Formats: sequence, C-alpha cells, structure tokens
Amino acid sequence: MRKTIVAGNWKMNKLPSEAAALIADIRKATNDGDCGVEVVVCVPFTAIPAAAEALEGSSIGLGAQNMHWKASGAYTGEISADMLKDLGVQYVILGHSERRQYFAETDETVNLKLKAALAAGLTPIVCVGETLEERETGKMQDVIVRQVTEDLAGCQEDFEKIVIAYEPVWAIGTGKTATSTQAQEVHALIRATLAKMNPAQAEKVRIQYGGSMKPENAGDLMAKPDIDGGLIGGAALVAASFAAIVEAGK
Ligand code: PEP
Repeated sequence: MRKTIVAGNWKMNKLPSEAAALIADIRKATNDGDCGVEVVVCVPFTAIPAAAEALEGSSIGLGAQNMHWKASGAYTGEISADMLKDLGVQYVILGHSERRQYFAETDETVNLKLKAALAAGLTPIVCVGETLEERETGKMQDVIVRQVTEDLAGCQEDFEKIVIAYEPVWAIGTGKTATSTQAQEVHALIRATLAKMNPAQAEKVRIQYGGSMKPENAGDLMAKPDIDGGLIGGAALVAASFAAIVEAGK
C-alpha cells in the first residue's frame, strides 16, 4: 500500500514572513499534517529557515525546489544537498518542467541531482512530462519512457525512496487538467518503465499527478490506481484549497 503524498510547489512566491503565515494556515487546515496523507510544502530557498521554524511540531514535510549535484565548490549561485539538509529540508523537487524549459535542465543533470539527493538522504520528487506538441505529434510515450529511464538511471536500488511527479507541461498553470483517464494511462506507463528497470521495487514508487490539480478534480485523479498523490502549484498558495486537495487524497 503506497501512502498518498500531496506536495505544494510554491515556485517563486512568498517572502519568509508570508511563508510562515501560509504554513500556520495550512497547519490549521490539515490538522498539522496528521491526516493519513504525507503533506509537504516546497518553498523558495529564502523562505526555508522561516518555513522550518513555522513547521516545528507538525507532521508536514519541508521541501526545496532545486539543488546542485556537487557537494561544494565554484558554482556561483547554487545550493547543495547538504546545505538544504542542514536547514531541515527533507524533500527536493528535481527536473521541474520550468527548470527544463527556462534553465536548460536536461535528463543528464536531473540524473546527477537525483544521485546527489539520494546520497544526502533527501526524498527527491522527480518531475517528468510531455509538452503539448509532443503529445499532439504522438511522441508522448517516447518522451516519458526516455525521461524516466535517463533521469533514474543507476538509481534502481533506491526506487522506493523516489517520488515521481507526472506533470504534462500543457497542464501546468494553464487551468487545463489531464483527465483522470489520460493521467492514469501515463502513470501506468511510468510504472511499467520502472518495472523494466527494477521489477521488485516498481510497485513501491509513488507517482504524483501535477498540472492544474484543484479541489474539484483531485479526488477523481487520486482515485486512479497508479495516481498516488499530487504536486500542486497555484492551488498550494491558498491554505483552504491545498487542504481540500489533501482531504481528497485520504
Ligand atoms: C507545478 O508547477 O508543479 C504545478 C503543478 O502547477 P499548477 O498546479 O499551477 O498547474
């Protein structure tokens, strides 16, 4: 039985004081995250210390949205896994489509980051997903299989520690959600790809759906057999809607 995991991706939003206020509201709305669902907030780097303090005594996990794969060195502007761990971070989003699109992230760098995150004891949330053009030209399956295979290469023995988020790029921040049937089809493809890499652990990997998930569609999506939670952008910035999605995941 896989535990449902609902994570908020706050993106480049919230000053530290605003993050603390939103977390206080999320704590109230989710019974401090003690609700049968794994609840996580992935905040901007600058809000991590305030968020860690605001989360103290709750069951809500703290995540970051990116990291570098090297432990230290001349990488101006970058943040390492150990730096995150030292601040109390437990999860890290890797390979979000916005990073692939705007910051030239590749399957190769996602793979390097994944290995570094696992080595540091962080729980990685690895994002995969096709663009609209790729879907419309019949390339969706190839893209998903390539991303899963290359992003997770060499990490087969650690599959159960990895969370995957299927985020169709055309559904992110657009208000367009994949139907639960479309999403389940891709989640099953992801699990089948994992099974080819490590049959013993594929069933243990949690696969979140992300892309305009909101209270109205969350229950239908998470009821599907291979959809084990959600990665939530816009709706995670409002405590009531984030909590309603968590509720739908029970
Ligand atoms: C995301 O960026 O991870 C995301 C799912 O965004 P949204 O929910 O706003 O579509």
